[in-house]
Amino acid sequence: MVNKPSSSNLINSSTGDWEMVIGLEVHAQVTSKAKLFSGAATDFGADPNSQVSLVDAAMPGMLPVINEECVAQAVRTGLGLNAKINLHSVFDRKNYFYPDLPQGYQISQFSQPIVGEGEVVLDMEDGKSVTVGIERLHLEQDAGKSLHDQDPKNSYVDLNRSGVALMEIVSKPDIRSAPQAQAYVTKLRSILRYLGTCNGDMEEGSLRADVNVSVRRPGGPLGTRCEIKNMNSIRFIGQAIEYEARRQIDILEEGGEIIQQTRLFDTKTGETRSMRSKEEAHDYRYFPDPDLLPVEFSQDFVDGLANQLPELPDQKKSRFMTDWKLAPYDAELLVAEKERADYFEEMVGLDADPKSSANLILNQHLGRVNKEGIEFESAPVPAAASAAILKMTSEGVISGKIAKELYDLVWETGDDPVKLVEERGLKQVTDTGAIEKVVDEVIAANPKQVEQVKAKPQTFGWFVGQVMQKTGGKANPQSVNKLLREKLEIGDN
Ligand code: ADP
Ligand code: MG
Repeated sequence: MVNKPSSSNLINSSTGDWEMVIGLEVHAQVTSKAKLFSGAATDFGADPNSQVSLVDAAMPGMLPVINEECVAQAVRTGLGLNAKINLHSVFDRKNYFYPDLPQGYQISQFSQPIVGEGEVVLDMEDGKSVTVGIERLHLEQDAGKSLHDQDPKNSYVDLNRSGVALMEIVSKPDIRSAPQAQAYVTKLRSILRYLGTCNGDMEEGSLRADVNVSVRRPGGPLGTRCEIKNMNSIRFIGQAIEYEARRQIDILEEGGEIIQQTRLFDTKTGETRSMRSKEEAHDYRYFPDPDLLPVEFSQDFVDGLANQLPELPDQKKSRFMTDWKLAPYDAELLVAEKERADYFEEMVGLDADPKSSANLILNQHLGRVNKEGIEFESAPVPAAASAAILKMTSEGVISGKIAKELYDLVWETGDDPVKLVEERGLKQVTDTGAIEKVVDEVIAANPKQVEQVKAKPQTFGWFVGQVMQKTGGKANPQSVNKLLREKLEIGDN
């Protein structure tokens, strides 16, 4: 979620302003039953080495066979990023040694990726929009996993992940602040999830980012960058960028220079530290994989996939703004997750007021979901119940205050809100006679305050509070206000 305004992207310092330059390489695991070049399963959390074919274990003589569904998923993603789809692309071998990489190389795409330039538009909280260019998207194999915590002396290797298809999505260095980088990952994740091409689960590592950060004087030439590897939390991405930019500025201001490095973010200290420098960088000796032909497909294949794409967040957002007159930022937050957007559409489909529905979802509903730490889908207040609560409020059956409590009651009991209002007597008291009685009581019991409110009209709210309290929040606020103003002889401000 975007949580800071993006208006001031410059970092002020005693020696003048600095600007951050950020580019991200996002690894997204392709949603597919089988791996990129083998038929082995890809389910998360299976027993170690239970989903490993001879190809994934790199047995001698085994040959990779491309999985067409993974190609289709990459093309769909490219379309969702408004990117150029390359009808001809090439798989290369990226050579390096690692215990969890049995082939001794990773099959990836280097100079001819399946998807070329595209873009992602970010709508920031301050109403500005930022366009981040996509450099490329390529397909590659994931590596296995070394397990160091299973045995005191030995490390084990789990090859379940070996050969799983990844999309590497490389942005241009167009990002200028930590909130923009967070918004970028959020938006990219949302697009992938709408498309159904990656489940976006960052905790399970299905989506992770390498974050490249440099600083420069505004408008000056690009500075030397450092790359923070393997970030799998949007919150930590923000922290790592802030820390890293500050670190680089401190070095430059002391007259030092930035050394191009790969760094790691330490979630405990909030700092980044060096993992390896450019001198230790790998020479991957890329060359086209002789076991694989270039990937070729027709424009018809691409058009067929394009025709089947679901409505994407940006389209949904503009539809929400046109059809329901929502503010851009509210619409943005609603469409960020498909489940939220569906919930909203169900509410307005039941005639709930669009603006109030958006407020209820984004404030109360999401607030409670986050507080309970559960998934949006498993919240016990269905859209129909939220719509009924809003309807009773707008019809004056219940007060706004009771509406909030009623929502929580539905959450806790799972009962129908209309039934709860009946059973628990939560209807708003609009009978002025009954309200007047309470108003008189409050005025009679508090002569001091009555005297005070004449001199200090701002203390008027205290009386409203007293009456509401005595009526259990059920008094119609307009009537309470009106009666109190009359009796205390206070005008409408
Ligand atoms: P490599 O393949 O060595 O990682 P790339 O040129 O492909 O290098 O860039 C990787 C990422 O680094 C891209 O997302 C790009 O936007 C970003 N990047 C490139 N130059 C800079 C820079 N000066 N500051 C910040 N990010 C940068
Ligand atoms: Mg890189």
